Amino acid sequence: MARLVMKFGGTSVANIERIRNVAQHVKREVDAGHEVAVVVSAMSGKTNELVAWCADASKLYDKREYDAVVASGEQVTSGLLAIALQEIGIDARSWQGWQIPIRTSDAHGSARIESIGDERLGEGFARKEVAVIAGFQGIHEATGRLTTLGRGGSDTSAVAIAAAIKADRCDIYTDVDGVYTTDPRIVPKARRLDRVAFEEMLEMASLGAKVLQVRSVEVAMVHKVKTFVRSSFDDPADPRPGTLICDEEDIVEQQVVTGIAFSRDEAQLTLRRVSDKPGVAAAIFVPLAEANINVDMIIQVVSDDAKSTDITFTVPQADFERARAMLEGMHGDIGYTTLQGATDVVKISAIGIGMRSHAGVAARAFKALADKGINIRAITTSEIKFSVLIDAEYTELAVRTLHTLYGLDKA
Ligand code: ADP
Ligand code: ASP
Ligand code: MG
Repeated sequence: MARLVMKFGGTSVANIERIRNVAQHVKREVDAGHEVAVVVSAMSGKTNELVAWCADASKLYDKREYDAVVASGEQVTSGLLAIALQEIGIDARSWQGWQIPIRTSDAHGSARIESIGDERLGEGFARKEVAVIAGFQGIHEATGRLTTLGRGGSDTSAVAIAAAIKADRCDIYTDVDGVYTTDPRIVPKARRLDRVAFEEMLEMASLGAKVLQVRSVEVAMVHKVKTFVRSSFDDPADPRPGTLICDEEDIVEQQVVTGIAFSRDEAQLTLRRVSDKPGVAAAIFVPLAEANINVDMIIQVVSDDAKSTDITFTVPQADFERARAMLEGMHGDIGYTTLQGATDVVKISAIGIGMRSHAGVAARAFKALADKGINIRAITTSEIKFSVLIDAEYTELAVRTLHTLYGLDKA
């Protein structure tokens, strides 16, 4: 007997028929004698709808009430799956985050899990009852408020619960049958990976591959949770194993580049002819950091007259207007000539542990993109990845070009 966590995403629980299908996957594991905790997302599209309602009700809505609203999507699916399981003769009950409890920080809208009570779930296992847990939500105990974990947060609920109840495995069921070399919806030639290293998955997720929430990969890595990504659309009687997220040492054939990710959630800001003197970068970036605006790529052009320089950087799209307004407010202090902004940009990244030991990996990409007439606006590199910022209209062409360049296309 093993103890399992099975997580089902929005498309997997999109309607009653699919919830019945999920119940069959759960039944398979229960029939095999395993103890099962299930984590569910809201029905696909539901969270977006709830978020839009909050924005509609007030431009500056109370984030605590936002959490009360958006957490409701998972409450519905957890109850429905418990009913569907009972319907096929399996003992099951739903759990909201606060009932377990899943204790979090009070960062409403992007709370972090601090601890999870395993007692009540343990009692449920002893009663041979399947726990159906609402993902994405928790409670800040000091205030007694509901919290949510940020978009895609049910992945993190699942992995954190697996760590808390010492599960033997955490299966993340979604609408693709594993982690691919890039988003299979953009590149039909993308290849499924049998295994991917934690570090690579962490980079892929944070650089735009939304198949797993970044935080879930961190939790899996720290707590050594054996995590698989697999499809809920496989035959419940005979599913494929999916992709295992594992230690680097457990991967036999390591490629130089493992995957290509892209993020449309980027905006570019450029300050022209900023005075070239000590303290200017601090004058720009310290206030942005204090306003919790996450600056990513930064390029400072060396000035030829030693008097002025151009500075380009990127921020998340959601922070673009706020950053722009702050820079306009700093005009007197920094003394730039013009402030330019662009939101029709995309960041394309290549990720691979093999980059540590191979030189010139990024350079090949620059050449390949240039050959396709794609202009690079900004570049960043680190040990196991590099990213380029380009015009959004070239997203698919650029992703496909790099995918082919690094030998990732399926045969
Ligand atoms: P869920 O609702 O099950 O949580 P998500 O929509 O959050 O599912 O994540 C699954 C989606 O992630 C896939 O449909 C796919 O389009 C996208 N995706 C992006 N990059 C990748 C990748 N490298 N491998 C697999 N899927 C990816
Ligand atoms: N329902 C939430 C979202 O759409 C959480 C999740 O699905 O993981 O972001
Ligand atoms: Mg998701």
